Amino acid sequence: MIEIRNLAKTYHGAEGDFTAVKNINLTINDGDIFGIIGLSGAGKSTLVRCINLLEVPTEGDVLVDGRSMLSLSRRELLAARQKIGMIFQGFNLLSQRTALDNITYPLEIAGVKRAQAVKRARELLDMVGLAEKEKSYPSQLSGGQKQRVAIVRALAMEPEVMLFDEPTSALDPEMIGEVLDVMKALA
Ligand code: ADP
Ligand code: MG
Repeated sequence: MIEIRNLAKTYHGAEGDFTAVKNINLTINDGDIFGIIGLSGAGKSTLVRCINLLEVPTEGDVLVDGRSMLSLSRRELLAARQKIGMIFQGFNLLSQRTALDNITYPLEIAGVKRAQAVKRARELLDMVGLAEKEKSYPSQLSGGQKQRVAIVRALAMEPEVMLFDEPTSALDPEMIGEVLDVMKALA
């Protein structure tokens, strides 16, 4: 599903060049649950962000489902990214939209009819135990609840790949479990 070949990423910053990752080769098969572990600053986020080209590799290639991400046109890349969900440490929910409307938003952009988007969003909220929170705004949700909304928002697009970058590191300890439980169920 994901093949990383000879990947390197060098950042060009004010203080000069910094190579965050290099010589990365790995294959992640369809259905695999694959974890990347390393110290802070080791390059984990860089590596994950190179998979959907949020960072453009300096060297090497990334194949998702057999296709080189670097060979895609802008339009093809946008389409490919719709099939790659990503969950960040910060929840990145839209603060002016309810939990339900955060989930329907990308669906509607992708051309799904409102009624169908709402139906799918409600099913997903129910799946992660948040059916009662559909009208809540992000500011009215706990960190764990926000992250569960963010996870199902990504799932609503029926992605082939889900990338998680430290999805529990911004949470209070008592909320980590509920997010991990959702991830385990998903896996
Ligand atoms: P991790 O996620 O494992 O903590 P990162 O991938 O975020 O590591 O960062 C790896 C290294 O690259 C760090 O030393 C970080 O300071 C550096 N880095 C990350 N992003 C940038 C950037 N946009 N510009 C310059 N250096 C960066
Ligand atoms: Mg990181």
